Amino acid sequence: VQVLKPRWCWTPQGVRGGLCLELDGDRIAGVVDAGLHPEVPELGPTLAMPALVNAHSHAFQRAFRGHVQWTKVGTDDFWSWRDRMYTVANQLDPDGVEAVSALAFLEMAESGIGHVGEFHYLHHAPDGAPYADPDELARRVLAAADLVGIRITLLRVAYLRASSTAPLRADQRRFGDAGPDAVLGAVARLGAGAGPLVRVGLAPHSVRAVPLAALRELASFDGVVHAHVSEQVAENEQCVAEYGLSPLALFERSGLLHERFVAVHLTWPMAGDVERLVSARAGLCVCPSTELDLGDGFLPLPARERARLCLGSDSQATIDLWSEARALELHGRGLAGRRNVLSPPGETDGLARRLLTAATSEGERALGGVGAGLVAGAPADVVVLDLDRPAADGVPPLEAAAFVAAPEWVRELWVAGRRIVSEGRHSQREFIRRRALPHLG
Ligand SMILES: [Zn+2]
Repeated sequence: VQVLKPRWCWTPQGVRGGLCLELDGDRIAGVVDAGLHPEVPELGPTLAMPALVNAHSHAFQRAFRGHVQWTKVGTDDFWSWRDRMYTVANQLDPDGVEAVSALAFLEMAESGIGHVGEFHYLHHAPDGAPYADPDELARRVLAAADLVGIRITLLRVAYLRASSTAPLRADQRRFGDAGPDAVLGAVARLGAGAGPLVRVGLAPHSVRAVPLAALRELASFDGVVHAHVSEQVAENEQCVAEYGLSPLALFERSGLLHERFVAVHLTWPMAGDVERLVSARAGLCVCPSTELDLGDGFLPLPARERARLCLGSDSQATIDLWSEARALELHGRGLAGRRNVLSPPGETDGLARRLLTAATSEGERALGGVGAGLVAGAPADVVVLDLDRPAADGVPPLEAAAFVAAPEWVRELWVAGRRIVSEGRHSQREFIRRRALPHLG
């Protein structure tokens, strides 16, 4: 049994001092009185809380961070960014996919993320030909997560067409499959060989990329299902033109809108969509830094207030779930023109809890887990934040985590009972950085 003795623990009962965490194997064995382990030194002014969960990531997109912050000609938007992203996507060989993914996961681990939902859509060689192992690139991404030691839920993407009126473009052939059966076959193969830190889910990319008939066939899948939904107005317009329905209503029509469904973005919900999402008890993954980087817009207030929210780093413009969490509230304030938009009335720490819940247990739930928090029996996935710094002086611990913390505050990260970050660093940091370098830019 390993014992962690932070100054404070964020438990389901609130922030408590005088406790320690007993870790046994991959589980938390007990959250007990610190006096029971007098031999273990206290870590100093630190807060232990559940490891963060990044519910929406495209790891390979880390490769061009900082290289698309300029305009070639005319205006730049989501669609022109996407063309540039495809160029990068088609340059990465399997070694590149693995190396860049590991770099993204390294940065996630060092910023407190213990579980990533990887929305994986690079499947084949750039000309669309399958690799000798048809799951080669998915396995490379899993190997990258394994090297870093974080949990991964691989959301295997179905991408069947460019749009309602066009087949896959030449630069989209890497993403394509023959049909829903091929997608479900890949999901089954990957799930069958999955290690203890791996889950596999399904991701119909969007209603642009997967037609209704195929969505219906994919609805036989009984795990978590994620999809990009209403990120762009043009996507809504095309869906209405093809079906007379909003994208979310189309997922409902197909049988995919259920408790295991997570809509990613929903920046532009159409009439009835928020009610549709809430009554299905489906999740909503918001990726504020990417949505701003791409000029997508802001999740409207009603969805922000009513839906079960989790968070994603998406395009890896930054990897900082601490700031993504506070953006849920701050962007809401900007939209509403008032303060404490998501704050439950009268609860002094209610807003901090709500934002950090989005970054932890709601993310875990979105990836098919439970997210019970720091309790006996829960997975030993723990982040230890160092609050011994001027920026945290006098700030209550949970409010420091929710409203001030940065990735650099992460002192330790434990995943499944293994400490993979200590003193803010991952043991494989320099190897992973060196290996990724030739593939960046
Ligand atoms: Zn995405």
